[in-house]
Amino acid sequence: MSAELSAPLIGTDRHRLSTDGHGVTTLVAFHGCPLRCRYCLNPQCFDTSRSWRTVTPQQLLAEVAIDNLYFQATGGGVTFGGGEPLLRSEFIAEFGKIMPPQWRITVETSLNVPRHHLERAFPVVGGYIIDIKDTNPDIYRRYTTQDNAQVLDNLRWLMSHDGMADRVVVRLPLIKDYNTPDDVARSRASLETLGITNFDQFTYVTR
Ligand code: SF4
Repeated sequence: MSAELSAPLIGTDRHRLSTDGHGVTTLVAFHGCPLRCRYCLNPQCFDTSRSWRTVTPQQLLAEVAIDNLYFQATGGGVTFGGGEPLLRSEFIAEFGKIMPPQWRITVETSLNVPRHHLERAFPVVGGYIIDIKDTNPDIYRRYTTQDNAQVLDNLRWLMSHDGMADRVVVRLPLIKDYNTPDDVARSRASLETLGITNFDQFTYVTR
């Protein structure tokens, strides 16, 4: 793998406890996202007016290894977010190869990426936190500006593998002016038919 493989980051955050994955994690947020969610909390992930710090997998490993003992003692590791981390699947795959095998990689993803990214990262990713928005394509498009056919197709592919129910959490937000509690219930029911059992249901706080 090329030592030049690098990716832009909008930030990192250490010592997160069970907020985005097992145990103690370091969140690594990549620049770049294919969506434009109405209430995005990280709009800097598509801000191209400035240049972002880039790191190679080796540089990131050297940086986050300071918390190696925390990761190993708690079953934690690195959570890749963003933006859309799976757009950096080559980086994640390389990072997974060089990190200590006891660490766990989690991705916080919309799954709205071409399948090859998901397949490339799959061998090294331990957990998925999937921000599904709403399974209704009209609601999804209105909220994110994009289509969700790829999301649902990727989710079906992911859930076709053994043991995924324990490794997948799906976030199901109630989004003011975009969906209703009935819409959320419909999304949940259709996702349950795929074998998903872990849901994080919450209401977006908007100003
Ligand atoms: S997927 Fe996340 S980072 Fe991307 S626009 Fe939506 S809320 Fe923002």
